[in-house]
Amino acid sequence: METKILKIRQESGLFSPEEEAGLRLAGEVIKGGGLVAFPTETVYGLGGDALNPESARKIYAAKGRPSDNPLIIHICRFEDMRGIVREVPREAEIIADVFWPGPITMILPKAENVPYETTGGLDTVAVRFPSHPVARKLIAYGGGYIAAPSANISGRPSPTAARHVTEDMNGRIEMILDAGDAGIGLESTILDLTSRKPVILRPGFVTREMLDRVLGKVDTDAAIVSPDSGQAPKAPGMKYRHYAPAGQLVIVEGEPGAVVSYINRQAGADKAAGEKTGVLGTKELLVQYRADVVKCIGSRENEENIARNLFAVLREFDDEKVTKIYSEGFSDQGLGQAIMNRLLKAAGHRVVRV
Ligand code: AMP
Ligand code: MG
Repeated sequence: METKILKIRQESGLFSPEEEAGLRLAGEVIKGGGLVAFPTETVYGLGGDALNPESARKIYAAKGRPSDNPLIIHICRFEDMRGIVREVPREAEIIADVFWPGPITMILPKAENVPYETTGGLDTVAVRFPSHPVARKLIAYGGGYIAAPSANISGRPSPTAARHVTEDMNGRIEMILDAGDAGIGLESTILDLTSRKPVILRPGFVTREMLDRVLGKVDTDAAIVSPDSGQAPKAPGMKYRHYAPAGQLVIVEGEPGAVVSYINRQAGADKAAGEKTGVLGTKELLVQYRADVVKCIGSRENEENIARNLFAVLREFDDEKVTKIYSEGFSDQGLGQAIMNRLLKAAGHRVVRV
């Protein structure tokens, strides 16, 4: 299949007549059971009609994703949530009031019309109302309910630019909407509202601290805090190796000086053993590293920038065929939680403390 790429320059929500026509066409593709990749404020999504089981099957096939890993349903109006969940609890209204449209997904009991293909066989459904104007327009033209996981081949880093989507999805889907870089760069926070106390199943841009402030204390799924908790994560997708570059990634934690000398020593030894070495470091330490490829992920002072760069930088190591990658670690507070969660999964939890 030939994948059509449609460039959209407007981010303000005001589209040119050509862009409007292109978005209408993309909506028709979704309603006809096809797939369209589109930008959101978090990462690029791979969209299909959420109420059509055939579309869900196509999404799993295009990604090479296990079909027990449920999809998030994207809506473009709060009221539409009522069409796919059994009931809207008070907490959901509060979260929607404070954070929607925006980067948080809520898990609720599903209504009957939501096919099990979309929910990976679960009786619950994940719902998100994104803020990106292109996403909202596509959802509106596409019938109101778009199921969309991240638009990457399963296991690879999530796409934060249309070129990443093209790398993974060209020839596999009908259309890609290219509206430049995703602003946040990490997938949405997932909050489970099906048990008595709200539980974070995946950390994201909306942090635990922010949720604590509006809901009182929320829990975090034990399985994502510690990989050896012995429990399966409640978000099925969190159990898979994920976000991973092709090379082996190791996170090195400790005092800056010790981190730099450990990484340089290891990279030197790896190089002598024939590996192509890489370092993912912060601006503050960058000049001190010695490796074949040294990439800057941003300044330690600006975690939002680090979040935005992470997946793109992991893909760049693949482009340069790096086989051994060392990364600095980050704090486990605030946005650092989401950054470390993705980095740990990308590293298969290989961490060295020096
Ligand atoms: P992605 O679309 O790539 O961001 O992945 C979607 C994530 O949402 C995966 O980790 C899924 O396991 C999770 N998810 C979707 N629906 C549910 C649900 N009903 N219950 C728990 N987790 C879910
Ligand atoms: Mg994903």
